[in-house]
Amino acid sequence: MIPQETIEQIRQATDLAQIIGEYIKLKKRGKNFEALCPFHTEKSPSFKVSTDKQIYHCFGCGKGGNVYTFLMEHEKMSFVESARLLAKRANIVLREDSSEPKKEQFEKLNYAHQVAVEYFHTLLFKPEYDKVLNGYLKSIRKIEPENIELFLLGLSGESWDGLISYAAKHDITPTDLVASGLAIKSEAKQSYFDRFRQRLMIPIFNLSQKPIAFGGRTLKAGETVKYINSPETPLYSKGNVLYGLNFSREEIRKQNAVIVVEGYFDFISLWQAGVKNVVASSGTAFTPQQARLLARFTDNVYLFFDADSAGQAAALRSVDALFDAGLEVKVMPSLSGEDPDSIARKYGQDKVEELRHDATGYISFRVKNLNRESTGIIAREKLIKELSALGAKLTDPTRRSLFYQEAADVLGVDVALVQSPRRTPVGERTGAARNIKQNKVELDFLSLLLNNPGSMDTIFETISPEDFDSRQLGRLYSALTTQYAKAGQLEFGTLLTLFQDEESISLLTAIGSTDWKPEQVDVEMRERTKDFISRKQKRIRGKLQKELAQAEAVGDQSKASAILVELKSYGL
Ligand code: ZN
Repeated sequence: MIPQETIEQIRQATDLAQIIGEYIKLKKRGKNFEALCPFHTEKSPSFKVSTDKQIYHCFGCGKGGNVYTFLMEHEKMSFVESARLLAKRANIVLREDSSEPKKEQFEKLNYAHQVAVEYFHTLLFKPEYDKVLNGYLKSIRKIEPENIELFLLGLSGESWDGLISYAAKHDITPTDLVASGLAIKSEAKQSYFDRFRQRLMIPIFNLSQKPIAFGGRTLKAGETVKYINSPETPLYSKGNVLYGLNFSREEIRKQNAVIVVEGYFDFISLWQAGVKNVVASSGTAFTPQQARLLARFTDNVYLFFDADSAGQAAALRSVDALFDAGLEVKVMPSLSGEDPDSIARKYGQDKVEELRHDATGYISFRVKNLNRESTGIIAREKLIKELSALGAKLTDPTRRSLFYQEAADVLGVDVALVQSPRRTPVGERTGAARNIKQNKVELDFLSLLLNNPGSMDTIFETISPEDFDSRQLGRLYSALTTQYAKAGQLEFGTLLTLFQDEESISLLTAIGSTDWKPEQVDVEMRERTKDFISRKQKRIRGKLQKELAQAEAVGDQSKASAILVELKSYGL
């Protein structure tokens, strides 16, 4: 953790235009800069860099932010990586803070996992478990000793409290183990027992190589649940993690491609065969977080599953998350009777590379599958609808129209047929861009407010966040008033740090990037405030009239006359 004031200090010591200028060509426009947007394809520049506010915003696709978000989005750095880079450039010494209050708990849980990894791993080498180590892992799974070490595979034994007693020797309490998801408390007996028993243990690591969870594969024949995984804990959220990414991230970045397999053993076998740009989805649908995580390292995803697996079905269902993160999705062909694990073991790296070479784009894959299953009109229509719905989920307009075009080409139909029936009107873009179009008055109002530090107090008294049509802009306004009350001024950089979601940041940077001529500001502000108030009154009138009609309909005379009095106060 880097202290907030250092983050601010680094930001203030950095010239945004200079940093961005190292990655894209900036053109000077007055005191600001503009460029062709690096985040979407365009012919005329709508990407603006504001030097006094130290922000950028693209009026085409809505992307915006400060120097940190730029490095994170454009260079796929993590926040800490970008802070380190900028600190170094600005000669600021980075003391990474350890006084984070939550840290103690995280450290405890991390430590519990480290101890558990050690415990399970040691157990695997006990003579009594020889049939697991040599019989299963080495002979059946064909896992090399060096990879048993690298992936720190382990074993949980028959005992109900093996880990609990081992952990106790390391000052880890059963309560800590429960919080780590490694033990379970029996409410009935008021006792604790190990969550994982008689399982092959596969530690799951975060990107800093720390164990945060386990996958446990059963070793008992006939057990119905093959795998159990750690539950969600403060350390581990299944939807944020992809197994193996800590090992493969550099290779994925280097090759600009990732192969997604289903299981831990698929991962290990591919890795062992020399295919090291791989992650395992653990058989679940992709979450947007996982997709964005992959997009930090690559643009190209290859799905590699055995044809009829549940994992493939899950991955195909959630492919929109991958598209939405800007990833190119291809599906690798499967060999009948084999899965990625066995293909890698039997035929090696060359075969995997060959299959990757033969991968089909997602849409073609779906159409090909359809033709194999049936040629019926109904199946075809279903697929068209599905692709159309999938396309509609893509937020980037360029990506969306390319997707529709490809779907139309592959299906051999007119593009209009594939485009979502509730087709988005031209110019409508991200949620933020939609807000910008529909709420121009409110947006201009906020933007003038930021440029016009004179008349704040009266404005804050007249207009409240609830008066905004757009709830999101209302929230921004509320943040403005809060910050103004706290600091006596509106500092844009600070304001930006109050929001984490992309849409708010986009709106905020749009507001900050709108230029007003100084001599215009006063006049415009008066005009927009008037507009704003009259819109607000119209809205209230509409609401009251509706209530009046309702009151009259049910014959509630006293209510009706009260509403009439109120309506009169709005000039009606
Ligand atoms: Zn853009």
